[in-house]
This record gives sequence, structure tokens and C-alpha cells, in this order.
Amino acid sequence: MPKKYHIETKKVAPRLPKIGKFGIVDWHEDCARCHNCVKKACVYDRYRQEMEYIKDLDEFNAMFFECMGCFSCVQKCTKGLLALTVNPEYERMGNGYFTPDIILTTWNQAETAGIPVSGAGYRGKFTGTGFDSMWTDMSEIVRPTRDGIHGREYISTSVDIGRKPKLLSFEDNRLATALPPLVDLPAPIIIDIFPEKYQFSHLMPMLLAVAVKTGTMMIVGWEQNGLLGADKEKHLSNIIFYLGKDTPLPTPEILKKSRLIEIADNNKTEQRIKEIKAVNPELVVAVRVELDSHGKERSIELARNPIIEVIHIVSDMNGNQIGAEKPEFIKDMTRHIHTSLVKSGIRDEVTIIASGGIALAEHMAKEIICGADVIAINMPLLLALECRFCANCRDGFACPAKIENITAQYGIGRMTNLIAAWHDQLIEVMGAMGIREARRLRGETGRALFFDDIEEEIFGRLFGKRIRV
Ligand code: SF4
Ligand code: SF4
Repeated sequence: MPKKYHIETKKVAPRLPKIGKFGIVDWHEDCARCHNCVKKACVYDRYRQEMEYIKDLDEFNAMFFECMGCFSCVQKCTKGLLALTVNPEYERMGNGYFTPDIILTTWNQAETAGIPVSGAGYRGKFTGTGFDSMWTDMSEIVRPTRDGIHGREYISTSVDIGRKPKLLSFEDNRLATALPPLVDLPAPIIIDIFPEKYQFSHLMPMLLAVAVKTGTMMIVGWEQNGLLGADKEKHLSNIIFYLGKDTPLPTPEILKKSRLIEIADNNKTEQRIKEIKAVNPELVVAVRVELDSHGKERSIELARNPIIEVIHIVSDMNGNQIGAEKPEFIKDMTRHIHTSLVKSGIRDEVTIIASGGIALAEHMAKEIICGADVIAINMPLLLALECRFCANCRDGFACPAKIENITAQYGIGRMTNLIAAWHDQLIEVMGAMGIREARRLRGETGRALFFDDIEEEIFGRLFGKRIRV
């Protein structure tokens, strides 16, 4: 049995006071000094922690908002002196898509590398937009495999990137088909280029160290090849250089030693691939396609070309179609591309990498179910560093999370923890769905429920098709 993929993690404490959701307002004045004060019974020990927190506070810049909102003390105080309050600073975080809940969950995972536990079941809406309009099927009927989660059997998350042959042929009991080059990854997750306004040069070596530590790869513009340092070959297997439309080809020395390279899609895509393959036929080439109004059809067209090995489809950071007035969401665009390729009988031949809008581990699993082989992330890694998604940096203002001051130990530790937590959650989801291989999860829509499909099936006969405005 091959060695199990495992990411070493260590708790990395936050640098700043955590912006939690709930706090308790305590009207001390009327306190009856009960012998069995409800504060002592807080199962999370928050009142004692609050005293410690206040004692160590250097400046009065953040109240203690770490209450879990169980209401136990609020309901049981004999004088009704305690009230639960929501932190206004918490509600200001995020950008609408990356909600305060997503940000806090990401911070907790980056700190502990643990799987988030919400306690009293799921408290969110029944359905919503984007990834919230689909559910993974974890019912008993699909034979969930807890054995995989507890390590007694192996759930493989490894994936291959590259073009695969349609058929294998044999002659004299020997394989006669020439096998194209493939890049194997231990988990279906890579690090994407950051949007221009969120690029911090001092984070680049840390991101590379995270890619090395987790065994994955990071996409980085060829202009930043200084990242390779003096020993150019050392980390090439963890780097995917991205070549923009007018970026010259890397040196033959780099092309010959790289495993995967990404190019911008344009009218010279095929010619560029041929130029790269002329230097190194074993180098896998991915084509980055923006999911604008032509993105879906362009991806399908590219997949039909036998020279294309990998298509990287990219939506905006919130998962929306780029430049559209009524944008489609990444999961729907991926599903369309995947289904079209299945119908044409060519889906297994190309690899699809998807990025944009993948903010939680569950989004990774759902995006793979919709048809992506691999996902690429960037913003969740920035959130892992206590970013609040306030957009100050984008607009040229000071960063409240002091991103510019982080140390390598902190940055590498937190981002590694996040990837480890996502990997564990992928195993958790796959185990609950009875799937033992990430390759088999891809396009497995039979193990998911889509709100639109269910609604149409049940109510469509009565009310007709829903009109989307
Ligand atoms: S509401 Fe619950 S978690 Fe919060 S302080 Fe009271 S007992 Fe503790
Ligand atoms: S200014 Fe700092 S906290 Fe705000 S979005 Fe930028 S990196 Fe994140």
C-alpha cells in the first residue's frame, strides 16, 4: 500500500484579537451574587477567558467576542442581566460573497488545522445562491465509509493533470498506445495567481513553501521567476509558470525541467503549445480561459482540439461570470462544460482546473462534483492570514490585519493548516458519500441534489419554468 498522503500541521495562534460574532452584555449593577452563578457554568469557559483577555489588553481596541451563542447563561441568569449581542465589526467583514461566517471559519481552520464544528447542527438557510443551491448526498443508501475517515481504509485524493488517451491498445500483450505526460498531485487543489490588487510580493516565497510542504503546485507569472532563487531546479516541480499573451517563453533550461506550464488563451494558443512542446514534449500545458460571455463555448471548442491537455477555467473571485450583467455562477458554467464534453464522448481526455468563488472546503467538493478535476484557490489563503476582506489594500489604504508584517513561520503555518483542513474535509465528504477516490468524485452528480432540478421536477408541472430575473 502506498504511503498515505499526510500534511504536518501545528497550531498557529492569531496575531490580532479575533473578531468573533457574539459577545455578552453584562448589566453588573443588579447582580444578586448567586452562589451558582451561570457564568461559571459556561461550557466554553468564556467568562474566565474574558477576564484573562482584558487583563492582557494593551490598548482598548477590541472587545471580547468569543461567545459561542448557546444562550445557556442568557436564559438561566436569575435576574436576566445577561444579553447576547452581535459584534458590529464582525458584520462589516467580507464582501457579500466571502461572508463573515466564511472568514471566521477560515481563521479557525488556519489556526488549528481542524475541521470546523458548528455544534447544534446546521444553522443556515435551507437553500441559497451559488454553491448553497446544491447538497451532497450523504444518506445511508450510498454506503458511507467511516473506515476511510478513521484511517482504516484508504480514501485517495490524488488526481492526474494532463491529456489521457481515449483507448488503450495492446499488441503482443504489450501496451501499444503512447502515453501522454501526466502530472500527479496528492490532492485536487493548487494555488492560483492572486488578483492584481491583492498581490503581496513578500507572500510569494511563503506560498511556494506551502506548495512544497503540501506537495501541491502554485501558479505564478513568469515575470516572478526570481522566486526560484539561485538553485533554479529545486522548486520547479511545485511551480506552474503562467505566460500572458505577450510574455516570451521561459528559457529552454526552465521548460525542460518544468512539469506543468500555463498559457493565456488567445488566437495563437495552438502555435504557443507547439513551440513549448518543441522544447519539451513531456511538459504538460494548461490553457487559462476566462469565463466571460464566450468562456464556456471556448472551453468546449478547445477540448475538442487533440493538442489541448488541460483547460483552466477562471471566473471572478466571487465565482461569477466575468463582465456579464446577469452572471452565471462557476458551478453552473463548469457543469455545462462538463456535460457538453460527456455528450461528445471526450470528457475523460482533458483535465479541467476551475478557480474563482471557491471559499470553503465544501465548495471544493461541490465544484469537483460539477465537473472540475482540480480546483485552484487564492483568496482563502489570504484570509488564513487574518485578512478581513475589507479591500483597504485594493484601494490603497492601510491594512488592518497588518499583512505586511507577517513572518514566514506564521504565514506558512497558517496557510498549510488551511490546506490540511480542506483536505481532511474532502475525505470527510467523500467518506460520507461512499466514494473512495477523488477521480471518481469528478462529475458524480448522482451523489448531489440541485435545488433548481428538484424545484422543476416537483413544482414545474404545476407552475411551469421559473423565470430568473
Ligand atoms: S451564551 Fe453560552 S457560550 Fe456564550 S457566554 Fe453564555 S454560556 Fe458561554
Ligand atoms: S487591507 Fe488587509 S485585511 Fe483588508 S483586504 Fe487587504 S489584506 Fe485583507
